[in-house]
Amino acid sequence: MISIAEAIESVLSAVVPAPIEEVGLAAARGRVLAEEVRATFDIPPFANSQMDGFAVRAADLVGADADRPGTLRVVGTIAAGSAGDLRVGPGEAVRIMTGAPIPAGADAVVKVEDSTAEGAIVALRHAPRPEEFVRPAGEDVRSGELVLGPGRLLRPADLGLLASLGKPTVKVRVRPRVGVLATGDELASLGQPLRPGQIYNSNAWALAAAAEEVGADAVVIGSVRDEPDALRAAFASTRGFDVVLSTGGVSVGDFDYVKQIMDDIGLERRFWQVAQKPGKPITFAAREGQLYFGLPGNPVSSLVCFVLYVAPALRRALGLAEVFARSAQVELVEGVRTARGLCELVRCTVREQGGRLLAAPTGTQSSGVLRSLSLADCLAISPPGRDQLAAGSTADALLVGPHAGFSARHPFA
Ligand code: AMP
Ligand code: MG
Repeated sequence: MISIAEAIESVLSAVVPAPIEEVGLAAARGRVLAEEVRATFDIPPFANSQMDGFAVRAADLVGADADRPGTLRVVGTIAAGSAGDLRVGPGEAVRIMTGAPIPAGADAVVKVEDSTAEGAIVALRHAPRPEEFVRPAGEDVRSGELVLGPGRLLRPADLGLLASLGKPTVKVRVRPRVGVLATGDELASLGQPLRPGQIYNSNAWALAAAAEEVGADAVVIGSVRDEPDALRAAFASTRGFDVVLSTGGVSVGDFDYVKQIMDDIGLERRFWQVAQKPGKPITFAAREGQLYFGLPGNPVSSLVCFVLYVAPALRRALGLAEVFARSAQVELVEGVRTARGLCELVRCTVREQGGRLLAAPTGTQSSGVLRSLSLADCLAISPPGRDQLAAGSTADALLVGPHAGFSARHPFA
């Protein structure tokens, strides 16, 4: 049996980068940039006013204040969007709006609140510093500067930057196509009544959502019975997917055929069984860049394996640097016994108190109890050598709830 760290290594070594496609900005949020974006001009492209007011020559208003305002002759008005081709000569001012180009000759703006205009004369009650309220060209981005680079998960402000550079499209990584295949004679599809002995196929929906959440394009293929021919046909139909997630049938039960079928269809098995709990029976295989995760059937196990292995693989394929679930040190407020010999991931809530993260197990840790994961904010890690997480002790924990995020490193030894 291999360790979690070895399994992560094995999975990541099989990942191939997703291809690149060009998409419009409207479709680019949450996508991963796959090009260097350099500015070909300054943003803003021209010096402009930061205020509604008057463009002036600072030298004309030295010493001006409320008691002794400086008076200037107003020679025109410049609105935002106008070319600004006026000139401010000595003793002159131009009425200017926010975002309008600073006219030639002017070097400062006095805001309208500090002015009283009467006909063509304006009295200004402030002596501006040179450049006051002037936004210089290139203040935001300089021509030639690298603005965003490959591996950037595009956020709303990034899309604004791309638009301000005039780019209508960007190159991004194609979202990996993930097919989710549940196996098990006991599975009923949503919308069907449950017959005796049946349960609904819940894994497929949870895993598809998990894959979508990390940026993949997930499809629920359906559920297949525990029959070799049916399984062979189902697995043979997965050629179009970059990543296949099956659940169930990878353990040591009489009807656990999935490993065998994966071998039969020519996948190269990289590992089976990891020294972890939950999720020990996971199987991983690859074929020409396609990744096959044979996840255990227990709902908590399959999702924990997703967090440990599938999410990093998908994020690596997308070109992201931070592929692992973020971890933090938590303090157990309640003790829990754990399996010696396996790395156990204990579902806990997390509460912050004076800078400490206090973790409490979410009740029974059976891998069939999905609510224990639904309620959890973290997975506290009990390393293989330990048989408990004692009350008051600290542990590394993967953050899965509202604190979740991604990191370039994982906490497994
Ligand atoms: P298996 O790994 O096939 O032995 O399944 C382990 C446990 O997970 C059994 O109790 C199954 O009924 C349950 N299980 C398997 N597949 C699913 C599924 N798609 N949705 C919900 N529970 C499942
Ligand atoms: Mg089964």
